[in-house]
Amino acid sequence: MTHRAVFLDRDGTINEEVGYVNHIERFNLLPRVGEAIRLLNQHDWKTVVISNQSGVARGYFPESLVHQVHQKMRDLLKREGAHLDGIYYCPHHPDIGVPPYRQRCWCRKPATGLIEEAVKELGLNCSQSYMVGDRGVDIEFARRVGARAILVLTGYGKGEWEYCKDQWKVNPDYVAEDLFEAVLWIVQQEKFISMGEK
Ligand SMILES: [Mg+2]
Ligand SMILES: [Zn+2]
Repeated sequence: MTHRAVFLDRDGTINEEVGYVNHIERFNLLPRVGEAIRLLNQHDWKTVVISNQSGVARGYFPESLVHQVHQKMRDLLKREGAHLDGIYYCPHHPDIGVPPYRQRCWCRKPATGLIEEAVKELGLNCSQSYMVGDRGVDIEFARRVGARAILVLTGYGKGEWEYCKDQWKVNPDYVAEDLFEAVLWIVQQEKFISMGEK
C-alpha cells in the first residue's frame, strides 16, 4: 500500500521568504497556510516538506537552528489543527563553506535524494503526488520525481514566473496565488479524476 503526497517547499511557500531564516523570530507562516495543510490532512494526503537550507553550509546559522525552526513550524501548524507527516532538508552547498556541509550531495533540490528518503520512510507514490514551490528549481524537481508541479506566487514566485519561466525546461501544471489556492486545485483535480474513473 502506497500513499499519495503533497511535497511542500518551505521558504516562500509555507513561511515568509526572508532570504535566510537565520533566527527563530524570522520564521512566520504565510496567510492561509494552516488552513491549506489542514485541508490536505483531512483529504488523506501525506504532507512532506522538502527544503534546501544551504545557510548551514554557508555558515549563516547552525544546523540546530533548522531543527528549532521546524519545531516552531510544527507548533504553529498544530495551533491551526494541521500537521506535517515529514520534514526533509538539505544543509549542503557544492562550493561554499567547509566539509562535511560543503559537498556535492544527493539531496539538494533539484537532486532527488530527499524524496527517495521520504518515499522509503513513508511509503509514497510519486506519480500520484504533487510538489508545490515558489521557484523554478521546485518545478524541475517535480519533473525529476514524476510528480505534478504547482508554482505559488508567494515568496520568489511572482518574480520567477515573470522573469525566469522562459528559461525553465518544464512548465508547472498550475500556477496558484498561494498554498491555499494550490491545495484547492489539488483537491478539485482529485474529485475530477475520481469522477472520471467511475
Ligand atoms: Mg522556496
Ligand atoms: Zn544535500
